[in-house]
Amino acid sequence: MTIKFPSRLIFSAFSLALLAGCGDKTTDTSENKQDSTVAGRTPVAMTAPKLEDTFKAEIDALSAHPQVKEAFQFIEDYDEQTIKTLIALTEIEAPPYKEKNRSDKYLSLLKEAGADSVWQDEVWNAFGLVKGTKRGKVLAFCAHLDTVFPEGTDTHVQQSGDTLKAPGISDDTRGLAILITIMKAIRKAGIQPENDILFIGNVGEEGQGDLRGAKYLFGPNGPKIDAFISVDGSGHESVTNQALGSHRYRITFEGPGGHSWGAFGLGNPHHALGRAITYFTDEADKFTRSGPKTNYNVGVISGGTSVNSIPFESIMEVDMRSESPESLVKVDTILQRAVRKALADQNKLKRHGPDLTVKIEMIGDRPSGEHPESMAIVQRGIAATQFVGGRPTLRRGSTDSNIPISKGIPAITIGGGGMGRNAHSLDEYFINKDGVLGIKRALLIVLAEVGIDDEMRIESR
Ligand SMILES: [Zn+2]
Repeated sequence: MTIKFPSRLIFSAFSLALLAGCGDKTTDTSENKQDSTVAGRTPVAMTAPKLEDTFKAEIDALSAHPQVKEAFQFIEDYDEQTIKTLIALTEIEAPPYKEKNRSDKYLSLLKEAGADSVWQDEVWNAFGLVKGTKRGKVLAFCAHLDTVFPEGTDTHVQQSGDTLKAPGISDDTRGLAILITIMKAIRKAGIQPENDILFIGNVGEEGQGDLRGAKYLFGPNGPKIDAFISVDGSGHESVTNQALGSHRYRITFEGPGGHSWGAFGLGNPHHALGRAITYFTDEADKFTRSGPKTNYNVGVISGGTSVNSIPFESIMEVDMRSESPESLVKVDTILQRAVRKALADQNKLKRHGPDLTVKIEMIGDRPSGEHPESMAIVQRGIAATQFVGGRPTLRRGSTDSNIPISKGIPAITIGGGGMGRNAHSLDEYFINKDGVLGIKRALLIVLAEVGIDDEMRIESR
């Protein structure tokens, strides 16, 4: 993917690499042509997933429910306003670790949409609770506040015809906007859920954030969550039920450094790094030739000051991903072993001075895992997709759902409807083509998860 940035923005090789790689999304451009739920996810089930009769019946019954029909009508009537919300939110910058302004605005939208209570946590995840009558189970319904774009990026939305162009407009401001519309639809139609729906605008989904918002939600200070749906990007056909895990490291070999002639014989960090890459890639190549799909990539190398200086440091950044948690651990072990061996071997060649040392920092850790096609939340995703006329596909991706999926908590990621393209680039755009289908699909899945309390019909607000 080509990423163009305004010339006034200056990037380090590192931040650029993170931005470019921040897909954390598997790359398959063919997928972008059909459904860009989460920019560039690899379709894993090309045959249609199996829908069980009970879940089809459940979604059919829900969609025939008079209040749900009212909610559908509201979603259609409100569509212009949904787009206005999308534009307003897109124009509030939300760079990694700097989501507070957007979080504050989102909190006010959640309140205005009719949440029973709203609050923020200490990482600036924004919450709006719609209470259920039974209050047994809590469904977290999320979209991420952050974008991959650094501070100073022009987020002004340019409209030409039906195309809305701005960085972050689809990934994931579209998700944020439809959550607001769905809360309003529930309120306007007087739908009383049986269980709680916790609407969340969460921080830190993208590369640099390393899912920190979702990690906080499922950490010791997070709320009770029994099921999780994240809306990420556009489209109304894919259901991500499989989490692609990744480990990322920054590895720094260090030594005293000196003149290449005068200090010759000192340990050379670049030489150690070169060895580490050779040892690592030789073994990793053998390991990844078979078994679950696993990759490895040295994406950045840096260090050194001049051609006639022994460098004092040599740095590489490494990304590894796998469909299988075991394979991810294994390829990680291969890296660690290669680094230790390179250090020891290079130190044997040193003729004087102190030993080289190495620092290994983990800069990314996303767990993997998957939920079976038969799990209720996955079935509801398939059924609702079919109901709105889409062709459901199950996918593997790296999204906020990685965290609950890895913990065995029911979770899926879906698109927010419409058509988004060029995610993570300044040329990102969104077209509101059949956008309401994605909103209706999300509403159906949410209501199937929490249930409607028919005894407690409430008057429209
Ligand atoms: Zn996203």
